Amino acid sequence: MLAIALSGLMTGTVQPAFAQSEPAPDPVKTLVERLDLEKYKATVKGLTQFGDRRQGTDRNRAAVDWIEAQLKSYGCPTDRIKYVYDPPPANPGGGRGRGNTGLAQGGGKPRGIRTPTGVNTDPMKQPDEKLRALNMQPTTPGPREAVYCTKVGTTHPEEMYIVGGHMDGIGWGEAANDDGSGTALVMELARVLCSADVRTDRSIRFALWNNEETGLNGARAYVEQRRPLQGSKQEPKWLGMIQHDMMLFDHGMPRADGTLAATQRPEADVNIEFQTSSKFAQAQQLAWVFQVANEKYATDYPASVGSHMTNTDSAPFQDLVPAISLRENERGTQIGAGWDPNWHQPTDLYATYDDADFRLGLNAAQTTLAALAGLTGATLK
Ligand SMILES: [Zn+2]
Repeated sequence: MLAIALSGLMTGTVQPAFAQSEPAPDPVKTLVERLDLEKYKATVKGLTQFGDRRQGTDRNRAAVDWIEAQLKSYGCPTDRIKYVYDPPPANPGGGRGRGNTGLAQGGGKPRGIRTPTGVNTDPMKQPDEKLRALNMQPTTPGPREAVYCTKVGTTHPEEMYIVGGHMDGIGWGEAANDDGSGTALVMELARVLCSADVRTDRSIRFALWNNEETGLNGARAYVEQRRPLQGSKQEPKWLGMIQHDMMLFDHGMPRADGTLAATQRPEADVNIEFQTSSKFAQAQQLAWVFQVANEKYATDYPASVGSHMTNTDSAPFQDLVPAISLRENERGTQIGAGWDPNWHQPTDLYATYDDADFRLGLNAAQTTLAALAGLTGATLK
C-alpha cells in the first residue's frame, strides 16, 4: 500500500515526452501554492489570543471552540474526542528512572554545546501584565475535549491518514511555537484540502490534540477509544499518523556562552523523524516520502530524516501504524539540548518570531501537504 503510494508520488507527475498538447498542470503544485505565509501567520496569531491555552482552563476550552469554528468555515466537518484527565500524583522521587544511558530522549546521541531546558511555572516571569492575567486561571482536573475534522475520500473513504498538532501549551507565554505553529499548520492543510474543488481517493483526519503537555493524554484517549472501531462505519482504517510539533525556530546550536543566533540560520531545515524502535519499519519509508515531497515542492528549506521521534502525539500511534513527526529541530538531541530558548518559556510569543521563522513552518506545511496529496491521490475538479 505505502510502497504503491510512494512510487505514485515519485512518478505520478512525469509527463510523456511525446505529448502533443501542454502537459496537464500538476495538482499537487497548485494545492501547495494555495498555502500562504500571511494566512499561516494569521492562524498562529489567532491561536495566541487564548494565551498559553493550558489544558483544563476556560482559555483552553475557548481555543477548542475557536479552532472548531475555523475548521467548519473551511468546509471540514468536525467532531470531538471526549475523555477525563486526572493528573497522576506528584512523584516525590522525581524523574522517571530513565537511568544514565548518555543518550537523548528518543535514543539519539547528544553532540556539542548543551544548555539547560525546563518549564517556566512562575507567572511573574511574564512581563506583559495583560498576558499574565489571561494565563492566570489554574488548571483543574476533569472532562476534556479535543476537536478533529475529516476530509472524506471519494474511492476509499474507509481508509485514512491522521494529521496532528497539539493545541494546548504551557510556560506563561502564548504557546505560539509550541504548538500554535503545528496547530496552525494542520488547520491550513484542512483549509486547502477541504476546498470544494479538491477530491482525494482516501480520507484525511485533521486532529488538534489536547493535553499533549501533560503526557499525550488526548492522543492516548483517541487511540484507546477509536483504535478498536477501525474498519467500522465510525472509524476508517488508519494508514499513517503525521504529527507537527514546534515548527518555527532553527537558529542553530547554542554558542559556548549559552546564547543563540538572533535569526533563523541559513541552513535551517524541517526535521522529519520516525522512531527506529517502533514496530513499523514502514514509518521510515513514510519519512522518506515526506523528504521527497519536500525536495520537490517546498520553496525555501530542505528536510532531514532522523530516526528518534519522541515526546509528541505520534508516540501512542507508533506501534499501531506508521508514524512520523515534523519539527523545527530533532526533539531529543537538539531541542532537548537547548536549541530553542523559548521552549515552554514566557518568550514563546507571536512577536518573538520573524518571517524567516514563520517561513520554516510554512515549508513544513508545504512538505506535508505535498506528501499527503500524493498519498491520498488528490486531484482538482
Ligand atoms: Zn509540543
